Amino acid sequence: MPLAEDRMSSLVAVPLAAATVEILLADSQRAATAGADIVEWRVDTCQHLGASPEDVIAAIRLSPLPVLLTIRHADETGAWTGSAIERCRLLQAADMAGAAFIDIEFARVGDLGAWRPERARLILSAHDFSGMGKDLGGLIARMRAAGGLPKVAVTARDAADLATIRQLLVSRTGDLIALAMGEHGMPSRLLAGVWGGFLTFARLDEQAGSAPGQPTVTELVGRYRIHAQRSDWRILGVIGSPIAHSLSPHIHNAALSQDGVPAVYVPFRVEDPMAFWMACGSWIQGLSITIPHKHALLEIVAGVEPLVTAIGAMNTIAMVNGMTRGGNTDAAAIIACVEGAAGDLRGKTVLCLGAGGVGRAIAHALASRGAKLVIVNRTHARAVELATEVGGVAVSESEAYGVAFDVLVNGTAVGMGKPQESPWPAERHRPGTVVFDTVYTPLTTRLLHDAQAAGARTVPGLDMFILQAAEQYRRFTGREPDTALMRAAALARLNPSA
Ligand code: NAP
Repeated sequence: MPLAEDRMSSLVAVPLAAATVEILLADSQRAATAGADIVEWRVDTCQHLGASPEDVIAAIRLSPLPVLLTIRHADETGAWTGSAIERCRLLQAADMAGAAFIDIEFARVGDLGAWRPERARLILSAHDFSGMGKDLGGLIARMRAAGGLPKVAVTARDAADLATIRQLLVSRTGDLIALAMGEHGMPSRLLAGVWGGFLTFARLDEQAGSAPGQPTVTELVGRYRIHAQRSDWRILGVIGSPIAHSLSPHIHNAALSQDGVPAVYVPFRVEDPMAFWMACGSWIQGLSITIPHKHALLEIVAGVEPLVTAIGAMNTIAMVNGMTRGGNTDAAAIIACVEGAAGDLRGKTVLCLGAGGVGRAIAHALASRGAKLVIVNRTHARAVELATEVGGVAVSESEAYGVAFDVLVNGTAVGMGKPQESPWPAERHRPGTVVFDTVYTPLTTRLLHDAQAAGARTVPGLDMFILQAAEQYRRFTGREPDTALMRAAALARLNPSA
C-alpha cells in the first residue's frame, strides 16, 4: 500500500469514469502501469455513462490501486441526480467495500449526518471554478474540524495566484490537498511534491477529459519526477503566454533528471510578469523568459549582462551569489551557431534578415564578434535603427540581392510552421556560404533546403534553441549539460512519431 503515513512525496491520483466496470478496471491498471498511486472513481459519471453505482462499488476490491470514491451531484458540477440519502448509502457501501478515500463536497457534509467512514479516509472538498475562493485558511480549518482531509481547488486567473496555493501548502498543519485549476494554475499540480501537497491529480492520457491544466500521469511522474520531489528542491521554469507549446520543460527536465539535480522546471503561463515576479519571485531560483515577456523584467534584476542592455531583451534570470542576474543566452547561442560553421567572423559580411526580437539579438551578438552587418527587414525603418546601433548597413530587399555575403541569417518569422515559405529566393543563394535559419518548426525549413541545394553550409534553428537552453542550464545548475540528451528530448516533442 503506497499510502503509508511516513510517505515523503505527493501521491498521484487519476480521475476515471467508464461505461462498464471492465473498462474502469482496465483503465485503473493503465494508471498503475503509468505510475499513479490512486484512482479516483467518479461514480456519478460512471452512472451517467451507463455503469451501475453498485457494480462500480463492488469492483473496488478488484482495483489494482487504492480507490478514491467520488459521487459529485449535478449541482456540484458532477452528474449525480439521486437523493442525498441514496448517496450516503452508496458512500457507506464504498467504505465497507474497501475504498481508501471517500470524497464529498464540504458544503454537503451535513448530508452524512453523524456518519463518518470507518475504514476510508474522508476528503472534504471545496471548488471554485471562477476564482481563488475566499478565506481559504478558515475554510481548511473548518474542514479539519469536521473530520476531513481538506481539498481546495480554486481557479488561477494568472500565475501570481500560485503564491496563494504555495502559502497554504507550506504552512499546512496536517495533510492538505490544494491546487489551482486552469493553465495558469498548472504549476500547482506539478510542484505538489515540493510544496507538500498530500496528493495531486493527473489525466490518464492526452485523450482523457479532465479539469483544465491537468497534466498526464506520465508527464507528472516522468518529466516532473513528482515522486522524487522534496521540499528542498529548487524551482526553475519558463514564463510566457502562450506557454503550453514550450519545449523548455522537456529539455531542462530531461537534463535535471539525468544529472540527478534536486530541481524541477515548470511552465508558467504569465500574463502580468511584474505581478508574477512580485508574488512568486522569492521561491523561484531560475527563470527562462519567452514571448512576449523578454522586455518585461529588466528592471527587477540586480544586474544584467552588457548584451542584454544593448539588445533590450532578457531571456534568462539566474541566481548568482544570491543575486538575480539577467542574461540573454540567445546571443551566445547565435554566436556559437554561426562561428561553428563560418569560423572567425572578423571582417566577414553577414546578411541579417529581420530586425525583430531575434533580429536584434543576431545583429548585436555578431557585431560583438567583428562581423560586417547588412540588415534587411520588411519594415525598413527598424532595419535602419538596428543598423545604426550596431554600426552596420540597412538595405532594401532588392539591394540585399546584390550583397556578397559570407553568412546569411534568418531572424524573421517567415517559414515558421509554413514549410513552403522562405524569406530568401532560392536562385539568390551562393555556394560556399553559411546559411543559418533561426526558425526550427519545421526542422528543415524551405530556406535551409534551398541553401543546401545551392551548395551552402546550413545551420538549423534547433541548434540555437538547444545551445541557448544549455547555457541557461549551466547558469541554473553550474553543471555541463548533455546537449545530445536535450536535443533528443526536443526532437521527441517536435516529432513524437519519429
Ligand atoms: P518578432 O520580434 O515578432 O519579429 C518578427 C520578425 O519577422 C520581424 O523582423 C518582422 O518584420 C519579420 N516578419 C514577420 N512576418 C514577416 C513576413 N510575412 N515577411 C517578412 N518579414 C516578416 O519575433 P522574434 O521573437 O524576433 O522571432 C522571430 C523568429 O525567430 C520566430 O518566428 C522563431 O521561429 C525564431 N526563434 C528562434 C529561436 C531559436 O532558439 N532558434 C528562438 C526565438 C525565436 P517587421 O519588423 O516588418 O514586422
